Amino acid sequence: MPEIDRLVMKFGGTSIGTGKRIRGVAEIVRRNRAPETVVVTSAMAGVTNGLVEMANTVVKGIAEEEIRGFVGDIREKHLATIEEAVSQDHRELGIVEVERLCMELEKVLVGVSYVGELTPRSLDYIMSFGERLSAPIVSGALNSLGIRSRWFTGLEAGIVTDSNFGKAQPLWKIANKRIKKVLTPEMRNGIPVVTGFVAGDGEGRITTLSRGGSDYTAAILGAALEAEEIWIWTDVDGMMTTDPKLVKEARIIKEISYIEAMELAYFGAKVLHPKTIEPAMEKGIPVRVRNTFNPANPGTLIVRKQDKIRETVKAITVMENLVLLTISGVGMIGVPGVAAKVFGALAEAKVNILMISQGSSEVNISLVIARSDLERAVETIKREFVTKNVVREVQYNPEVAAVAIVGAGMQGTKGVAARVFTAVAEADVNVLMIAQGSSEVNISFVVGRKDAKTVAKALHDEFVMGK
Ligand code: ADP
Ligand code: ASP
Ligand code: MG
Repeated sequence: MPEIDRLVMKFGGTSIGTGKRIRGVAEIVRRNRAPETVVVTSAMAGVTNGLVEMANTVVKGIAEEEIRGFVGDIREKHLATIEEAVSQDHRELGIVEVERLCMELEKVLVGVSYVGELTPRSLDYIMSFGERLSAPIVSGALNSLGIRSRWFTGLEAGIVTDSNFGKAQPLWKIANKRIKKVLTPEMRNGIPVVTGFVAGDGEGRITTLSRGGSDYTAAILGAALEAEEIWIWTDVDGMMTTDPKLVKEARIIKEISYIEAMELAYFGAKVLHPKTIEPAMEKGIPVRVRNTFNPANPGTLIVRKQDKIRETVKAITVMENLVLLTISGVGMIGVPGVAAKVFGALAEAKVNILMISQGSSEVNISLVIARSDLERAVETIKREFVTKNVVREVQYNPEVAAVAIVGAGMQGTKGVAARVFTAVAEADVNVLMIAQGSSEVNISFVVGRKDAKTVAKALHDEFVMGK
């Protein structure tokens, strides 16, 4: 590992899943710290999901007693974790904060249950408790090792975002300045701990950077502080040739380019939030993905350009919870710009289109979107196009997955697509759609959800194991 002067390290939910693990994380920080270091932390494993679930339950109106029970469990979990992770003389601050936050959380949940409405803004507020509860504990664990540490919410650390709740974007100009101003003196005095995922808008309202966004927080801070490296500590050895939970033969990728890592993340490799690479790439900061449970392993290094590219295909990803929308209609034939209008209307409705394909007959357009966008998409298309007879109908298949193979070595290599689709056919799987305009570093296509694992395994055998 090279000598580093300034380092941002992020720890994921499983890595801080228990008090014992948090002690391990503090030890990792102690051993790997640079002269200037910032730590970013996720919520403890399962907490964000629990908060989301509870928010969706209380909005239907439930007894205050149930809310009290839920918050009581959260409180106990975090207090017990403090006891396990933080030495006695450093517990006070954390305990006070956990008590304070739990009272606040109870009030918010009761409020939502009375109002009966869960806006994106209140959901962000509720989700933020996960990281706000864990950061004081991680900070306390560092103090227990004699490392001076204070904790900050993302907003306190200077991450000012727009007000796009649930998917906020930094206002880079202000954020860069504030982050430097807040964290520079703090890094000189000790190791600040910043809540991942959680930030705030110009009016001080809490925002979040979208699920899994703690990685992005690390990259935002790394870029603003011009860190020499950004390390993402997680629960696997690095970026792997496919999701090890799906295909057990998955291997670690030692080195990968920004572009490839970005494509992998975008097409479902959960190990890295898709937005993480952009700020790092802009500043040319290498990103490392490492395993908290196996710190001896150097992990994956993500850099601008890999030294020597040996493999054509780096990895295979699977993206789930998708819907294949098919828009069909005679009205589209010969009418220029219908596709563009459809994409425009969907963009306006904030529907993110992941893949596109248009048949040469012009009668159909197929789109892949997230299942969470389905209602909005169908409603928009019906309202804007079906009722106006521009398109005949919109159909959808909610049981699909997208599979992508990623590798910069595919550029200029002939016959990759043929190998891909032969392997898929030999696995006896039907391809529902092939994306148009894939970048030269990926080929992506859609299959039935139940076939995704089979396809991933078949492609992994063909391109990774077969080599
Ligand atoms: P964290 O809580 O540390 O942010 P995540 O659960 O968000 O961790 O991401 C790590 C998980 O990503 C791994 O446990 C693994 O199952 C999954 N994953 C999916 N695709 C890949 C891949 N190509 N390489 C490594 N991990 C992957
Ligand atoms: N806690 C947040 C989530 O579960 C952010 C993260 O873990 O990166 O989505
Ligand atoms: Mg994650």
